[in-house]
Amino acid sequence: MNSPVNEAHPPHDHRDLGRDLDLFAGDPLVGSGLPLWLPAGSVIRDELERLARDIARADGCVGVHTPVLGKRALFEKSGHWAKFATDMFPPMALGDEAPGDQLVLRPANCPHHAMVYAARQHSYRELPLRFNELAPMFRAERSGVVSGLTRVRQINLDDTHVFCRPDQVADEAERALRSALHAQRVLGMPVDYVRLSLPDADPGQLGDPARWAEAAEALRQACAAVDLASYGLEVVEAPGEAAFYGPKLDLQVIDGNARLAGSPRSIGGAERGRTSRGVGETIATVQLDFVQPQRFDLVYDGPDGSEHQVVMIHRGTVGSMERVTAALLERYAGRMPLWLNPIQLRVLPVSETVDDVARGFVDALVARGLRAELDASGSLGARIRASRARRDYAFAVLGESEAVDGSVQVNDVFAGYRGSVQRGAVVDILTDAYAARCALSWPPTPAE
Ligand SMILES: [Zn+2]
Repeated sequence: MNSPVNEAHPPHDHRDLGRDLDLFAGDPLVGSGLPLWLPAGSVIRDELERLARDIARADGCVGVHTPVLGKRALFEKSGHWAKFATDMFPPMALGDEAPGDQLVLRPANCPHHAMVYAARQHSYRELPLRFNELAPMFRAERSGVVSGLTRVRQINLDDTHVFCRPDQVADEAERALRSALHAQRVLGMPVDYVRLSLPDADPGQLGDPARWAEAAEALRQACAAVDLASYGLEVVEAPGEAAFYGPKLDLQVIDGNARLAGSPRSIGGAERGRTSRGVGETIATVQLDFVQPQRFDLVYDGPDGSEHQVVMIHRGTVGSMERVTAALLERYAGRMPLWLNPIQLRVLPVSETVDDVARGFVDALVARGLRAELDASGSLGARIRASRARRDYAFAVLGESEAVDGSVQVNDVFAGYRGSVQRGAVVDILTDAYAARCALSWPPTPAE
């Protein structure tokens, strides 16, 4: 289990860390709310995308790719246009087409995934189907409110939509909840409680009240099956917090960063948002939806030979790349866990005579898929300070005696000075911990 460097320190601002560690940047010519991920930041994002994909595949989700554009008519049909047009970028008119044929940047990925389902006829025997995509969606945030990675105009979301029969809803909700809890555990992000968001009397909520009640009951069953108490979590029911298309389970963090708390409301499966009635920040979500299948006429062929309406479940597991990167940077004060860290081991030769041995060690690490770099210029003290300042996961010092005996002197950001470790063992320890996305387990030092 990863743990932050120092629980007592207040969280660092991810915008400062992003600048100081060369993770991401903005440019007025590109536009506000449109961060550029620099190479080191892209390492973090690629690792998060890989985690999202690994969890989704292990959970029986299949990958899909869908366009970021869609006709305005698609979002009129889904209901997004009526609810969220002011949060969307204006439609693009290419010629003299009818308004419904104008293209818009999607405010949510759900309608496209509904169309993936609709592209084929389905039998009750092939359900559930789970479609996963690391999918970009868009918000027309005003330039005054965009900030760092937490208020952006393009949100890259780990987004899954499940299509199942009504009798599969509780099992699918349980599976989604387990995946979300697993993802947060791997990330080392605490979850404070699970919120069951229910409707209030809002006439804006769509659909049949009896189905809403059934859906809420299925979510309660899922919570019971997962045994949240074993995670130290309880379920808090929150009337009035449901999405416009159905009730949902949200993994909540109470003391999200104050800035994160300013996020706008959820739009169709997006994970972010603290509303006036909610407490804390939502970091993952499981949302039932009886409305989209109705609007898009999404059906399956039942055992009775007739068509039945499918149930849609929106799942957010890792979350949006932007929000989770910001939260992780602040939680770890920029010192990212091994599997996420842009530099897993910095190798520091003490003198020029051992440069070649050090370079060979770096090559051996890189050949195993690890992120290692040689730093040979300047005084050793300055290079150690630079490695710490860059928040490298670990550094290894190689002097003349180490060159001869096959070892390095290791310092690990989380575990401190680890003494002399054989270079072959360092490669194996790093490789195993990286593959398992866990902290390093070094051999005991002589003092231990
Ligand atoms: Zn969705």
